Amino acid sequence: MRICDLYKPGKTILSLEVFPPKKDSGVSLDGALSEIARLSPAFISVTVHVGGSADRTAGIAANIQSTFGIPSIAHLTCVNATRATIRDSLQMIRERGVENILALRGDPADGGYKDYLYASELVRDVCGYGGFCAGAACYPEGHIDASDPVSDIEHLKIKQDAGAAFFLSQLCFDNGLFYRFLERARAAGISVPVSAGVMPVLSLGQIEKMIFLCGASLPARVVRLLHKYQTDADGLRKAGTELAAEQVRGLTEMRVDGVHIYTMNKPEVAAWIFSQR
Ligand code: FAD
Repeated sequence: MRICDLYKPGKTILSLEVFPPKKDSGVSLDGALSEIARLSPAFISVTVHVGGSADRTAGIAANIQSTFGIPSIAHLTCVNATRATIRDSLQMIRERGVENILALRGDPADGGYKDYLYASELVRDVCGYGGFCAGAACYPEGHIDASDPVSDIEHLKIKQDAGAAFFLSQLCFDNGLFYRFLERARAAGISVPVSAGVMPVLSLGQIEKMIFLCGASLPARVVRLLHKYQTDADGLRKAGTELAAEQVRGLTEMRVDGVHIYTMNKPEVAAWIFSQR
């Protein structure tokens, strides 16, 4: 099932993101996946670690489809990729029966970029290969490396022109910022569906890491929450999940195309958000 065909005008679809557990962690995703699948999300996307294996990501995405009958997306990045390695990855992903790819630049730690500098180039090759529905990432507050928000949106348009058929957004804690971004994106010619990324606040450490990595801003109500529950981990988790559920309700009432929830492989968090929508 092509992800772009799941979006319907005026109806908000809910989707979820999971990540492959670290190889040597001994953690299995199977239990979490079967609980997450029970929520019947429109689709599940599977991330790829920097320097991680595209094969592992595609394997999980294939399992989501074959075991649970839920459409899935395999993330794929440009990090260290050559035209030949991307062709091999696309062949492998196709052989596994996964037809949706989120084409990303990725952030190399020690390697770098080879044949691909920007995600738009990867989108073009994924679409050129044939048989895939390619999506791409977008940033309600602008990408952290972007020199200004206008050119950042122009770069989204390049990804759309290269064939991106939908966008999944970076997490954003403030729906107002997402709506304003969407307005600017539509005015700049972005016409494909855009899902808003929502991440529940579960711990201070998680938020510090995410803010550092992606530069998302913290609205006052999130700061107040972190302050109020600084010595109460369970309280923060509960209040943070409720805040995410409230965000999802607001986005659904505004009938955005979709909401993509970063589950952090925690089915109980996703289940609470789904039950409150
Ligand atoms: P690009 O679209 O290439 O943009 C990167 C930067 O380059 C932006 O600042 C953009 O404005 C600029 N730019 C783009 N085109 C041009 C151009 N032609 N000229 C000049 N500047 C240009 N990372 C992972 O490693 N694994 C994952 O699984 C993963 N999943 C993600 C899922 C989502 C929904 C999101 C939002 C991000 C995800 N990331 C993941 C992180 C992503 O790889 C990083 O944010 C990365 O820094 C940018 O990726 P991109 O695809 O948006 O890059």
